Amino acid sequence: MGKIYPKEKIRDIGFIAHIDAGKTTTTERVLFYTGITHKIGIIDEGTTTMDWMVQERERGVTITSAATTCFWTPSYREKDPNYEHRINIIDTPGHIDFTAEVQRSLRVLDGAVVIFDGVAGVESQSETVWRQADKYKVPRMCFINKMDRMGVDYEKAFKSIKERLTPNALAVNIPIGAEGNFEGVIDLISMKAIYFEGEQGEIITLKEIPSDLVEKVEKYKKVFIEKIVEQDEKVLTEYLEEGKEPTAEKIREILRKATISGKIIPVFCGSSFRNKGIQPLLDGIVEYLPSPQDLPPVEGIHPKTEEKIVRHSDDNEPFSALVFKVANDPYVGSLSFFRVYSGVFKKGNYLLNASKSEQERIGRLLQMHSNRREELEEVRAGDIAATVGLKNTGTGDTLCDPSNPIILEQIEFPEPVISIKVEPQTKTDQEKMSLVLKKLSEEDPTFKAKSDQETSETVISGMGEFHLEILVDRMKREFNLNVKTGRPQVAYKETIKKAVESEGKYIRQSGGRGQYGHVLLRLEPLERGKGFEFADIIKGGAIPKEFIPAVEKGIREALERGILAGYPVSDVKVTLYDGSFHDVDSSDFAFKIAGSMAFQDGAKKADPVILEPIMKLEVVIPEKYLGDLTGDLSSKRGSIESIFDRGMTKVIEAKVPLAEMFGFATKIRSLTEGRGVFTMEFDHYKEVPFNIAQEIMGKAESKLEKES
Ligand code: GDP
Repeated sequence: MGKIYPKEKIRDIGFIAHIDAGKTTTTERVLFYTGITHKIGIIDEGTTTMDWMVQERERGVTITSAATTCFWTPSYREKDPNYEHRINIIDTPGHIDFTAEVQRSLRVLDGAVVIFDGVAGVESQSETVWRQADKYKVPRMCFINKMDRMGVDYEKAFKSIKERLTPNALAVNIPIGAEGNFEGVIDLISMKAIYFEGEQGEIITLKEIPSDLVEKVEKYKKVFIEKIVEQDEKVLTEYLEEGKEPTAEKIREILRKATISGKIIPVFCGSSFRNKGIQPLLDGIVEYLPSPQDLPPVEGIHPKTEEKIVRHSDDNEPFSALVFKVANDPYVGSLSFFRVYSGVFKKGNYLLNASKSEQERIGRLLQMHSNRREELEEVRAGDIAATVGLKNTGTGDTLCDPSNPIILEQIEFPEPVISIKVEPQTKTDQEKMSLVLKKLSEEDPTFKAKSDQETSETVISGMGEFHLEILVDRMKREFNLNVKTGRPQVAYKETIKKAVESEGKYIRQSGGRGQYGHVLLRLEPLERGKGFEFADIIKGGAIPKEFIPAVEKGIREALERGILAGYPVSDVKVTLYDGSFHDVDSSDFAFKIAGSMAFQDGAKKADPVILEPIMKLEVVIPEKYLGDLTGDLSSKRGSIESIFDRGMTKVIEAKVPLAEMFGFATKIRSLTEGRGVFTMEFDHYKEVPFNIAQEIMGKAESKLEKES
């Protein structure tokens, strides 16, 4: 069994970054120096160990949120084994379409390292994830990577962090040289030059600061010390009145506290690719990012009484854990990754899935290292681990001690808003498609699949074009399922605006056994977002109980078929209030058809309308582009809700129909010369204006004509 680490020596962290800033390379180097992998994988050759899904390797984009464990003792404390820490790295995707992945990982990590490309500085996605990390109050450090790249400019990159992200950024080490002459870093605490020697930068040598850098270092050191002493009244007085600088130990203590509270964001630099600057970054993770105990206790509710419950990161409290990822692994099957918030759990026992009110036996506990799995006997507060073969546990569910039930704060996932048609290529593809789609939607709550039995057409929906593209790619690679895809479409819905009553009769009585189903329904609009409700208020056996489920089934099928343009109907209540039956001829089949007919007829008379997804948009741009942007947004049927200043930039908050947003990324780039960034997420469904509804219905009709 693994060694038990005291809570203060555990770090649950993630690396977050704009795509291509070097997250994969940095993680890879971290795993190398912490002794887990012995040969450095080069991302360009597709051999890294963290990106274990093939298409991620090919694209060089990290998509799934796997968790990896490694161990580190700060370099300057090497001789003391008591300083060994366990670092659990939760992998986070950088692309905004992977909202669910980003949110679920931010939700369970305690601290993050944000990686920047030293040439590009702050990029749009780094700004997006930065804001998401703000929302989850995640303490952070920065790493300015690629100091060896042509055109790198440390000061400019540092300034972009300070101006665009946070005034609290503070350099902890600075580069020696740049581009091809980048040699190492100067640590502003020890005031030593650190060089990384040996074949893979594994040998650290400390030297005096090169004379040509002394002046520059003094400048940074002054800023550094002033910011540090400001954090502590007593230290500040000693510094101002006696000119006394705090000791290295004291500086680290102050910096740790300030990082955890977000008052300081330590900034490191280096080049992952050239194996320089990683060990000091690891030292920083251990020294400055919080342990599970440094953060406020987690809150949840009792599943029955809904009373608020608090759990501390303590082995003596009842067990509670949050499942943040379900993945299908080619070797072990379905893997559920979870973060333990409190208590201890030994394998072989039962846990309650409080979100689903079901118990599950946990037969195996696994800790994932980048290239192997370790079987654990138990897990404790602060641990990140995985288990295998849970039947009904999904992402976001709480696992807990059955006698102390708790539901931890749920992760709220947005609704999928973009759809594409998928068509199996061969008969074998057709046979396995539904199973594959089921597996993928269990893993990813923002991915949905729907098949129309009549037209045998299948539509998948997700958060964005890139999201769906990756999922289609995974179907091919992981499940060998080949599909043809259509063009991305907005996921419209339909609903009704008026309450109506309606009748459905399916009666066939010509020779042999006949058919007899007869229902009377009331259709009413429901509040937006309420979905579908069915009520049965039949009295006196006008329809025998056994046929009622068939009526509901018929209605549900009709809902899926739509009223106006073939989009699913939502926010409707249907009440079955009367009908009749025949002793011999009535059947489930007849009642299903009667239910479906009654709904279809009724819905047409109930003022049906089409609904479209409206997105919440935030655009951040330099002031001079404000006019162009607001103009563009109003031409897109957008409504601007507010405009305010953030640092040197303007922020526009608006609501815009998704249908108008295809190609916006390119548009904003050209409109603002690459300076504008935006984030967009689903907000609500809203009735489309008349002329646009006509257009959508026209398209649906011509599609039907073409197909018939
Ligand atoms: P990710 O998308 O953030 O995971 O970034 P990767 O780690 O895949 O890196 C993107 C590209 O940048 C790859 O071609 C890397 O080889 C390259 N890269 C990463 N770190 C460095 C670095 O320190 N210096 C240079 N010059 N290139 C780097």
